[in-house]
Amino acid sequence: MAQPTRAVRARRARTRRSSASGRNPDQLPARHVFTQTERVWNTWIVACVSALWRRTHTVSQAVRSARAALHGSDNIAAPHSRISWQSNWRFLLRRSGIPLRLAAHLVTLSIVFLVIISSVFGSFSSDTAGAASPVPAITAPATVADVQIQRSIGSMQSGMSESEALPQIRTPDLVLAPAFVETHVVAEGETLGQIAAQYHTSVAALFWSNDIASESVFAAGQELRIPRLAGVPHVIAEGETLDSIAAQFGVRPQAITLFKSNNLQSGEPLLVGGEIFIPNGSAPYPADILTRLGGEAGIASLRAVAAGTVQEAETNLRVGPGRAYAKIGTLDAGKRLKLLARHEQWVKVEDGIGQTGWVRADLLGLSANAIAAVPETNDFPALPPVWVWPAHGSVTSQFGWRSAPFRSFHDGLDIANAAWTKIYAARRGEVYESGWCSGFGYCVKIDHGDGITTIYGHMIKKPPVKVGTMVEAGDLIGYMGSTYDRSGGGYSTGVHLHFTVKINGKAVNPMKFLP
Ligand SMILES: [Zn+2]
Repeated sequence: MAQPTRAVRARRARTRRSSASGRNPDQLPARHVFTQTERVWNTWIVACVSALWRRTHTVSQAVRSARAALHGSDNIAAPHSRISWQSNWRFLLRRSGIPLRLAAHLVTLSIVFLVIISSVFGSFSSDTAGAASPVPAITAPATVADVQIQRSIGSMQSGMSESEALPQIRTPDLVLAPAFVETHVVAEGETLGQIAAQYHTSVAALFWSNDIASESVFAAGQELRIPRLAGVPHVIAEGETLDSIAAQFGVRPQAITLFKSNNLQSGEPLLVGGEIFIPNGSAPYPADILTRLGGEAGIASLRAVAAGTVQEAETNLRVGPGRAYAKIGTLDAGKRLKLLARHEQWVKVEDGIGQTGWVRADLLGLSANAIAAVPETNDFPALPPVWVWPAHGSVTSQFGWRSAPFRSFHDGLDIANAAWTKIYAARRGEVYESGWCSGFGYCVKIDHGDGITTIYGHMIKKPPVKVGTMVEAGDLIGYMGSTYDRSGGGYSTGVHLHFTVKINGKAVNPMKFLP
């Protein structure tokens, strides 16, 4: 071997460079790894591989001979090409000057080298991971398992939003004074007494800590402050002293200063508007609450009801479920209302002090589920009657006494316009007279029920509606003209509609009904 091959030269060059750069040989895993045992093991692997190769070679030659015998000369082409592939490699090796046996050793050695390098680096990296986290073998699979659980929850409840799928977390209220240790979200059906027992506090402490007196409805979903001890919170007012406050709640002043949450130093002035807690303090329940709820026992058994909260100021409370119903009053934003019944998208509510009415459900901040949980009802007043103007035109004579052309009582409303102007039913009802009428000329009379009737006089021709016909407000019933019946006491000075409204046979001012 006179000349080293190009590969060997390159390797030598690399070795020189690395030693020149002053690299510590210990950092080279290859050198570190090749111990005596490993050399022996390598030799054994080489022996195994060459034995295996010889065996396969022999077997494949036997197979080729068998195939040739079976199929004739056709199948000899493939083995020939394989033989020529092998001989090409041998030829190349021979030309490069490396003996075949040495080349085989080199190939095997490099494979073994690669295997050892990879295993050393693999164990090294897992060791560093082990140093970073004390139990890598446990934490890693646990993380994977957690992810799988979260995913499976997500897929099971795919209909729900992410926030619904997660457990509800009660965030502490930061504005709570330290005297209050927890916030309780009231569930429907819970009583004040039950909640007091749950937190080992008193009904009175809950009552005063949560300003239940000012809320007319004890509502589910309401958040209650839970005091650390039984007692009463108090907001310091102008001119109050520690002594006066102590006297008001029946405790000694020290009871207030010693309660650390109050952060009071004796001798220091009290902060007006600040809230302090009076441990074991007591105050009489307001008389109106005692009356309304039935004494102290009634307060303890005050049960949370399904309620809605008014979302906007001046929300209308109506007589029935619809905007066509009259307004009873307006509600303030934040007011809680007990839910009594439902009709379509309207809810019948009670304000806790006896007033009931209807509010559109979406104005109470109710979810679709909360609305659906309210019982449906059809128990509400019928829609109020709708009135429309019986004709377009100008009012030429009002209802009442008139002086011209002579003093007389005008029992209706005159609306003037061009001939053939359309005349409509002013309200839903049944036609009870249609045609030529005494006094009015061509006319229509409608019975609206509730004792109310209307008359439409001076029509231009025989009206197009028959007696017994049900008409809706706004239905066409005739055309404006100037006909009148002098024998019946009627008179008309020009084209107009005379419109009369009667209640129980007595003419009333139509302007009371027309929109
Ligand atoms: Zn008239």
